[in-house]
Amino acid sequence: MLSDLTKELNGRVAIVTGSSSGIGEQIARRLSALGASVIVNSSSSVANGRKVAESLETQSLYIQADISDKQAAANLIDTTINHFGRLDILVNNAGWTTLIPHHDLDALTDEIFEKTFDVNVFGTWWLTKAAMPFLKSSADGNVVNITSVAGLRPVGSSVAYAMTKAALNHMTLLLAKSCSPVRVNAVAPGLVKTPWTQDWQNQHDNVASVVPLHRSATPDDCAEAVIGLIRNKYATGQILVIDGGLSLVM
Ligand code: NAD
Repeated sequence: MLSDLTKELNGRVAIVTGSSSGIGEQIARRLSALGASVIVNSSSSVANGRKVAESLETQSLYIQADISDKQAAANLIDTTINHFGRLDILVNNAGWTTLIPHHDLDALTDEIFEKTFDVNVFGTWWLTKAAMPFLKSSADGNVVNITSVAGLRPVGSSVAYAMTKAALNHMTLLLAKSCSPVRVNAVAPGLVKTPWTQDWQNQHDNVASVVPLHRSATPDDCAEAVIGLIRNKYATGQILVIDGGLSLVM
């Protein structure tokens, strides 16, 4: 696996959390195609995660870690530094949800509420905090958070999920302001065709009928947005909505 010195992310090291499938996998593939070494991560689906890491074009590594476990999140950063000696890009993609109608407050149990916050907010926070000193040492340190239109509009798979994504959107602005020169941006997708939404055919059908671009997003639509934010060296504090126009009509 020789790296191509002409590629623009050659020599850079990126962590993509939750990259054993879906959006994270595609982001890992696109970063590697630009020359970056990628740490592929997931909490479960270890075999898939290993397969993704092995198939990348650059020297890459799979690390199993549940980001909602504070020690595991710290170990993910430590192992990356021990192995590659640097960290340039952190893509906070891992997330968790379960479908709960918003009006059914009892169905949103404390357990579900806490798990949603543990993974999406606390996990992302711990990882970002542990990564920041290394990102600050990079010539162009980047954090990209994968949030959701559910963090901008009163929609989404559960009230808790939408609250966590709103928190991450705001964290994006706060850290972009306070942690420069590290650039901190977010990509906020609408509905995306991934394993996460494979049983949500009704939602895909609804989106296809109401959204101006008449389809759900693909993982590559989201990965393309991540790459665009990383490439544009003057972009920070941006929440790039990739929803085919959904938020224009809801
Ligand atoms: P996916 O199920 O294909 O991938 C989720 C990944 O996160 C998997 O690799 C899984 O192992 C990992 N993961 C889950 N919990 C984890 C944890 N505690 N620690 C480490 N890894 C963990 O789902 P996806 O649709 O690709 O979702 C990726 C991100 O995109 C999520 O943050 C999700 O909120 C966001 N998103 C998805 C959609 C959509 O419609 N699919 C829409 C908007 C935002």
